[in-house]
Amino acid sequence: ITVYVPCDAAALSVGADDVAAAIAAEALARHRPVTIIRNGSRGMLWLEPLVEVVTEQGRVAFGPVTADAVAELFDAGFLDGQPHPLGHGLTEEMAFLKHQQRLTFARCGVTDPVSVEDYRAHGGFVGLERALTLSPAEIVAEVTQSGLRGRGGAGFPTGIKWNTVLNASAQEKFICCNADEGDSGTFADRMIIEGDPFLLIEGMTIAAMAVGARQGYIYLRSEYPHAAATLREAIRRAYEQDWLGENIHGSGHDFHLEVRLGAGSYVCGEETAMLESLEGKRGIVRAKPPVPALHGLFGQPTVINNVLTLTSVPVVLAKGADYYRDFGAGRSHGTQPFQLAGNIQRGGLVELAFGVSLHDLIYRFGGGTASGRPLRAIQVGGPLGAYIPASQLGMAADYESMAEAGAMLGHGGIVVFDDSVRMDRMAHFAMDFCVVESCGKCTPCRIGAVRGREVLEKIVAGQDVADNLALLQDLCTVMADGSMCAMGGLTPLPVRSAIRHFPEDFAPIPEGLA
Ligand code: SF4
Repeated sequence: ITVYVPCDAAALSVGADDVAAAIAAEALARHRPVTIIRNGSRGMLWLEPLVEVVTEQGRVAFGPVTADAVAELFDAGFLDGQPHPLGHGLTEEMAFLKHQQRLTFARCGVTDPVSVEDYRAHGGFVGLERALTLSPAEIVAEVTQSGLRGRGGAGFPTGIKWNTVLNASAQEKFICCNADEGDSGTFADRMIIEGDPFLLIEGMTIAAMAVGARQGYIYLRSEYPHAAATLREAIRRAYEQDWLGENIHGSGHDFHLEVRLGAGSYVCGEETAMLESLEGKRGIVRAKPPVPALHGLFGQPTVINNVLTLTSVPVVLAKGADYYRDFGAGRSHGTQPFQLAGNIQRGGLVELAFGVSLHDLIYRFGGGTASGRPLRAIQVGGPLGAYIPASQLGMAADYESMAEAGAMLGHGGIVVFDDSVRMDRMAHFAMDFCVVESCGKCTPCRIGAVRGREVLEKIVAGQDVADNLALLQDLCTVMADGSMCAMGGLTPLPVRSAIRHFPEDFAPIPEGLA
């Protein structure tokens, strides 16, 4: 009998290792031989550790399982898929999973993350095998045709970026994967790296073949030690089985891949600060132009893409550009792994085509607030994202609809707040975050955030609220218009959206300022 117990960090944090050990011990004592496979997470985080038992009908889910509950699960016959209060029936039939459109996360939680054989058995490396039959220009054309846009936040068309690097002439070119996932409420990069790391390796290898690069780096945040270990093991096995290295499967293509760990700086998620950090320097933002596609790592043409962008590429190549392009809405093609977090009943990962409403994500999948109190606000796109009031949850989650509403999708993190939230405090938090994380290179951000925090402290304390709000609006204009990068440039977004949508929390507020 095969039993799956996740080794994803979210499951480990709530005792998955103890559960795996308890199942092994109980099976031994009862003479019921079991094979325990440590898989990634299915993304139903409120059910972790989610244990699955393989039956003739399919995989049956139980969760959240604690080590203490294991003996009782054996008594109830869970190895034979018998019903139990912790049981949820067939995993694939669970509503949270069944109604998703998983392209990128199709294998996550299904396979053994570090087994090349399992990866291959579930359609892995099909995209790379097809890429091996195409010229670099044909690969770039396929990615361009798919409509794939950068999932890191900016939504820049991936094919255009690759084409710039392809056409740049240089001795050396690089592929850099931004896995610095620092936005609040986001965990998709971590989940896919821990649950299906070969997908990232495959996507980066295809990118390398497309632009003529021989070396890639994955810039991973140091707060993800489990992801680092899984990724390094997957890279080691990929080398062992000729999916990385010199002359990959006799194709004439060489590609080498290394993991580099960050040191806890949010701004190193900004692409040029990441390059500085990769070069061993302090992570401060570089002026653009020149763009990294022409003058990137060590001054060479460089593709920089986020984990979710690169892990979308194998699907594009395996199933074809048109298949991928057909998902989505308007100019937002494909799927987005949304991450539900904060005060939500069913937190986790939901991959769906762009265009789903925020309301559907939060209520149909997330089940509303965890506290049971009315939802008051959500923040989408990390700490620099706008606050959206409950009245606007009908908004479609795609790049254009959100931009029209003065918000942004960012990395797809959605953080939910109930009616106990104080929005003047949240605005203060935004400025405070910028104070802590500013790289210090430009004045509007470095000084502006400190002044913004001070002004908000006065507003929260009720001192000269009208005058201080006017000052804050001025300051936000200077930061938005004068900052060198998104850190200072976008910090006004949560501040201004909080004032606009929740003026009662900044009272008294004079007319014309909200
Ligand atoms: Fe650095 Fe902030 Fe200026 Fe960005 S906006 S370059 S983080 S000081």
